Amino acid sequence: MASITLNNIEKTYPDGYKAVKDVNLDIADGEFVILVGPSGSGKSTLLRMIVGLEDITAGELRIGDEVVNDLAPKDRNLAMVFQNYALYPHLSVFENIAFPLRLAKGKLSESDIRSRVNDAAEMLELTEHLDRKPGNLSGGQRQRVAMGRAIVRNADAFLFDEPLSNLDAKLRGQMRTEIARMQRRMGTTTVYVTHDQTEAMTLGDRVAVLKKGVLQQVASPRELYDQP
Ligand code: ADP
Ligand code: ADP
Repeated sequence: MASITLNNIEKTYPDGYKAVKDVNLDIADGEFVILVGPSGSGKSTLLRMIVGLEDITAGELRIGDEVVNDLAPKDRNLAMVFQNYALYPHLSVFENIAFPLRLAKGKLSESDIRSRVNDAAEMLELTEHLDRKPGNLSGGQRQRVAMGRAIVRNADAFLFDEPLSNLDAKLRGQMRTEIARMQRRMGTTTVYVTHDQTEAMTLGDRVAVLKKGVLQQVASPRELYDQP
């Protein structure tokens, strides 16, 4: 686990568009921060800069004590879960979850991989489905496989980009409970983008509001949503 610190972070795209402007945010080790804001406000850009999929134009990004601006994604030890969870259709659930471990630099033994995948599967109630292919799973099960792939790596932090937005209301409720439980158990630093106020209220320690690339407000869900 680790803290994430954004100091004066900016993003200007090659076409000159300034998508993120002078963002300052300290995310404590183990904290769950929700990122909200209108479409186009720069939420995805910010997440992608944190995970390393997008260059940072200006400012300093730290994970723990380390400045990571110039580190490749694979050297940052962060795990990102996207809304279109991009599983490999030809691989079993087991191999989908094991995938990032097989890519990792310091090679794990097969028995270490097996034990990590089994632990993640148990936590996400996927043990019975390890031999199946993603195509034969429900939407909620597929989403849990995507989360399994994120948690199996013992990442320093999780980054979620609207992970539940493609699910129906019932599944969304179940997954919300699942994520809250996982966070309590693992205490992982999390940044979570959503449009859903219920998710923000139930999951977030703090909510950060982004508008036109500017961080407008950072407050507890209570302060933000319980106003008279
Ligand atoms: P959000 O996730 O809040 O919807 P994004 O981070 O996706 O916002 O986008 C923020 C702004 O940056 C938008 O105006 C978008 O059009 C623009 N943008 C995103 N990607 C690029 C790109 N590759 N080149 C130029 N502009 C981009
Ligand atoms: P290379 O080209 O040497 O593989 P990259 O900088 O392109 O290095 O990073 C690719 C690696 O980064 C992938 O192997 C993957 O493990 C990791 N990665 C890419 N996207 C993400 C993400 N969204 N979340 C976590 N890790 C990612």
